[in-house]
Amino acid sequence: MGEGQKSQGDARRRRVQRLKKLIMLSVLVWMIFPVGLCMVLFGRIGALNRQLAETQGYQQQLLQQVAAVTARQDQDVLREQEQQSPPLDRKEIVVSAPVAGADGQDGDMAVVEPEAAHKVYLTFDDGPSKYTEEILDILDKYDVKATFFVLGKENEYSIEMLQEIARRGHTVGMHSYSHKYADVYRSVEDFSADFYQIYSYILENTGIQSTCYRFPGGSSNTISDIDMHVFADFLAEQEIEYYDWNVSSGDGGSVLLDVDTLVRNATSGIPGNGTSIILMHDAASRPTTVEALPQIIENILAMEDTVILPITNDTTPIHHIK
Ligand code: ZN
Repeated sequence: MGEGQKSQGDARRRRVQRLKKLIMLSVLVWMIFPVGLCMVLFGRIGALNRQLAETQGYQQQLLQQVAAVTARQDQDVLREQEQQSPPLDRKEIVVSAPVAGADGQDGDMAVVEPEAAHKVYLTFDDGPSKYTEEILDILDKYDVKATFFVLGKENEYSIEMLQEIARRGHTVGMHSYSHKYADVYRSVEDFSADFYQIYSYILENTGIQSTCYRFPGGSSNTISDIDMHVFADFLAEQEIEYYDWNVSSGDGGSVLLDVDTLVRNATSGIPGNGTSIILMHDAASRPTTVEALPQIIENILAMEDTVILPITNDTTPIHHIK
């Protein structure tokens, strides 16, 4: 073999070697690249999942805190109210005979609400109280109708006020008989018993078959160990609609809010809503609600294409739970 042939053979071997290395390298790159990419992406997914879980946990915590505060506030109002029993002065109160089914309150009567871009519902929980008559007079002055979610108070004054609410054409709604969360939400049987108590209390004293309910603490309360959907389903079976709120005056807290704050809380969100159900309290411990009410009504009446209505069967409900 000549020198020239030997060096030609070496050169070919080197080329083949290089080609082999190149092929190996390509294969490696083709394998490593997708595996590496997968690892990076899996890592990213893991991090995002952790973030999502944290956010959801935080959101859940916030929701529970808000619900717990609302529920506590609601209980605070009643406790204070019980401490300051309304004065029983029958001489000052003139009550007409109760009117059954007045102003479309009969459950069977179909009511069609007037058209407006913004419908506002003033709702008063926990009454009757020593402020009920004053609230009724203010509503009369502005010729607006509201909704009172009442409790089962058996004293004569409260019954007369309940009748007065009905007589003046406001909607009478139920807010449980006892308002004792632990009892009301203990079981479906307890809830049912309390429901029939408040239903009968209103029917016997006013002749009205109430068709609307507000859960003590709202449907989003965290007091109940039983899923609130169970109680909501019970109400649906009785053909009762429940109404939460999407505007809160904030008058249920342990701190008595001043008039300006109540007016701002109760009215600022309305222009952004089609339906605004405003939570207020008719409670002996809430004097500023009564003081703020005229300004709240005036501000709403001054809003464009906005009406104040009592809750009827035609009202779009607000539900905190889906
Ligand atoms: Zn309440």
